[in-house]
Amino acid sequence: MTIPFHTNSRQHHALAHELTSALATADLTDDSAFNREVQHFEQRLARYAGSRFAVGTASGTDALTIALTALDLPRGGEVILCGFGFFASAAAIVRAGLTPVLVDTQSEGYVIDPAAAEAAITSRTVALLPVHMFGEAAHMRRLSQLAVDHGIALVEDCAQALGAYHGDHAVGTFGDSAAVSFNWSKHLSCTSNGGAVLTNDEHQIETLQALRAYGSTSGFWHPLFGLNSRLNPFEARVLAHKLPHLDSWISRRRTIAERYWTNLAGVAVALPPVPEGMSTHVYHKFTVAHPDRDRLRHHLKAHGIGSMVCYPHLLGDHPPIAAVSRSEDLTHAKQRAATALSIPIWPELTNDEVDRICQHIDDFCGAS
Ligand SMILES: *Cc1c(COP(=O)(O)O)cnc(C)c1O
Repeated sequence: MTIPFHTNSRQHHALAHELTSALATADLTDDSAFNREVQHFEQRLARYAGSRFAVGTASGTDALTIALTALDLPRGGEVILCGFGFFASAAAIVRAGLTPVLVDTQSEGYVIDPAAAEAAITSRTVALLPVHMFGEAAHMRRLSQLAVDHGIALVEDCAQALGAYHGDHAVGTFGDSAAVSFNWSKHLSCTSNGGAVLTNDEHQIETLQALRAYGSTSGFWHPLFGLNSRLNPFEARVLAHKLPHLDSWISRRRTIAERYWTNLAGVAVALPPVPEGMSTHVYHKFTVAHPDRDRLRHHLKAHGIGSMVCYPHLLGDHPPIAAVSRSEDLTHAKQRAATALSIPIWPELTNDEVDRICQHIDDFCGAS
């Protein structure tokens, strides 16, 4: 039996009856039902996320773009983010007419180093964009203090971290706004694409809603340059049914992570840092590191185990980002890109499957 790197099929099997009846009972004859589906989910999501408001969008990438655009920052202004990450975070900055400035990760783990962020602040800096990479909350207390001290905006990329906390506060509640994603691979997933902007600031709501609807505020009047990016109401319905399960899925992800730590103790593979202090981890991904990462990946593949290199290239290496960004020292980030390997951690994995994955990692490390 192969173990895919990621699958929703066991999860959707378990919820098959609930999800198919939710979709089958959507009332296509009621024109207003569709707005209601989206609003219903937005309210549930906001409550779960500890935010006052949520604005559904067609994707997490659009949510980030819209969140940045709504702040009306000076064109070309610099936005600081970690140089190790997923393309969409940097692409959203560029699409919002801003300039990515890429800084290093901490010496351990995969989130932005607050000291590196501070060192990169210039008179052109307009915002910080921390990404809670792989589900680990970044150091939001220090980062929000930086934003306040320098009078710059703070937008969180929570695409991989819905449900994570820093201190007493959920990620997504520290700054001006935040983006979440519900794409197929996320830990709260719909069937194709979806996203949302979270904010506590009621003054942004009208702008955010306009930006997802062609920038229109009323009947064919467009004061803003918006996207056409609304959350699909069928996806909203699926998400509303899945959201109540999210905490138990996160809890199972944590149990699997503990099993990895126990089984892989003493094995020559670097494990992700145990979240310490104030930050919690929702294990969107469980990412190990090995100097011979590509051979480890092939070894696992030969034994029917999927894995994924998240991420093999630094953000500043992708041509459309390279052309318009600035990179600071990225020593740790480069190391991550060269050695990181994400292994399966979807919540429906059995303990036996986790043990099998560990056994093959152990075999590889023992032999190499
Ligand atoms: C998935 C992801 C996005 C983009 O979300 P989509 O819904 O796929 O557009 C942005 N940032 C990060 C960190 C992501 O993992």
